[in-house]
Amino acid sequence: MQRIGVLTSGGDAPGMNSCIRAVVRKAIYHGMEVIGIKRGYSGFIDADMGPMNLGSVADIIHRGGTILHTARSQRFQTKEGRAQAMENVRRFGIQGLVVIGGDGSFTGASIFHQEHGIPVVGVPGTIDNDISGTDYTIGFDTALNNVVDAINKIRDTATSHERTFVIEVMGRNSGNIALAAGLAGGAESILVPEILFNIEDICHKLLSGHKRGKLHSIILVAEGAASGLTIGQQIKDLTGFDTKVTILGHLQRGGIPSAFDRILAARLGAKAVELLMAGDSGKMVGVRSGEVVASDLQEILGKPCPINDEMYQLAKILSI
Ligand code: ATP
Repeated sequence: MQRIGVLTSGGDAPGMNSCIRAVVRKAIYHGMEVIGIKRGYSGFIDADMGPMNLGSVADIIHRGGTILHTARSQRFQTKEGRAQAMENVRRFGIQGLVVIGGDGSFTGASIFHQEHGIPVVGVPGTIDNDISGTDYTIGFDTALNNVVDAINKIRDTATSHERTFVIEVMGRNSGNIALAAGLAGGAESILVPEILFNIEDICHKLLSGHKRGKLHSIILVAEGAASGLTIGQQIKDLTGFDTKVTILGHLQRGGIPSAFDRILAARLGAKAVELLMAGDSGKMVGVRSGEVVASDLQEILGKPCPINDEMYQLAKILSI
């Protein structure tokens, strides 16, 4: 393999740049050329791409976001759009493709691979940590630390004013951020989309905590479980407590990638290049029990990624 393409797709995740750097440098180390494709599948279709060199990825290892930019492309979901992308594959002499993104990006990559035979390898880059076949996705650790940092700050006010705080975090389909941040931040209740909750039980817990002399409470809500504003209002109505709501939004996704995410990104990016060099295709790289592994995209796509029940139960026990 002489020339590979690399793109980032779906939501941006801190550590994507570290991964691009690893892909580019590992490929160049082995004598290959790299084409950087801008704005995910949109740039793939529009031929918004060009050669990268060692210098193109200098001084990006510590930057959040993605220097290649990212996008969501409707056109890539059509046969015509993908055929146009294939035209560009031929035009730029791309022989293999590394796709850094989430589940949706891998679905697109897999379909493209099946339709046009071009080797593809996926690298899981999403803050949600909701991809089967890997214990961690690039960006999750940084986002988690961003949320825990926010909880620490909100806790100061919550304690000082003896208030209940509802914090809404990202996770439309996955409660991984809420659960891990809730456990790390000592939340009283954690609401995740995977598990049904009862607002009365939550309020009952708040009231008994209050009776014991608890000065403040923090409720963590994944956006897919409920709206933080609604939960805040319901708690106020049912308990009469002064309840404030903070929606962390995009603050969670930005910022300097953690060392964990950078190391993960470096290892996974390098492995993706190795797989392409070895003639592998239709794979996703991941990390399992500390080891870098490869899975078939077909096997992991759409496979549910259940919440860690042991962690969920523990968080409940520790927040009595
Ligand atoms: P995140 O987890 O951050 O949302 P993601 O990769 O799951 O990342 P999506 O928006 O679901 O993000 O997908 C990214 C892009 O992948 C889509 O905009 C589209 O271009 C492509 N894609 C998704 N599903 C398909 C599909 N069924 N066929 C072809 N392309 C697809």
